Amino acid sequence: MIYELSNPITKTLVTHLRDQRRDAIRFRHTIAELTKQLVYEALKEFPLLQKKVITWTGESSCDTIDEQNIVVVTVLRAGMPMLDSVMELLPEAHAGFLAMKRDETTHQSVLYYDRLPDCKGKTILLVDPMVATGGSMVDALKLIKTREPLKIIALNIIGSPEGLDVVNSAYPDVDIYIAQIDERLNDDKYIIPGLGDAGDRSYNTVE
Ligand code: URA
Repeated sequence: MIYELSNPITKTLVTHLRDQRRDAIRFRHTIAELTKQLVYEALKEFPLLQKKVITWTGESSCDTIDEQNIVVVTVLRAGMPMLDSVMELLPEAHAGFLAMKRDETTHQSVLYYDRLPDCKGKTILLVDPMVATGGSMVDALKLIKTREPLKIIALNIIGSPEGLDVVNSAYPDVDIYIAQIDERLNDDKYIIPGLGDAGDRSYNTVE
């Protein structure tokens, strides 16, 4: 299923991201805020465990998510601010990294590095801000699936209808939480209206 957030704050933050005057630090900060909103929505029915905690009145049994059974997988580089944001909420979760390069001629993504921790039986939060053609998401999901996770949830900021359709058709069991579904892709496979290149905007990369 695809769940698009509808909160007015979410839409306002997406508009901030589209503003080309937003500098890299504020861009990353806004991505991080949106990521937290996605996590709250995606995990709102997540099971709670009991954990013993020394509170001010002594030992007590308290509610908690089993953070150690969560793996946050990021697609470099644009997914980094999202990973940091999830890890701020769930500091005991494990992190995994995938690096993909977009071929600017064929528009295909090429996976050239993976560093995934043990995913078997775990819940995976795959974070990638932009779902353009859906190619990199499908490649990432294909790899993660071989590691036998319990469940995969994708967290994305902006997607195209075409790209989301590609991902959803290939992996209908993966729930996708996204802040904004935009209009379309252009001929260079950028999202319209989108925000430009999320990695470049995050880290001031100039070709
Ligand atoms: N990647 C981006 O960062 N932006 C797009 O519009 C498409 C792919």
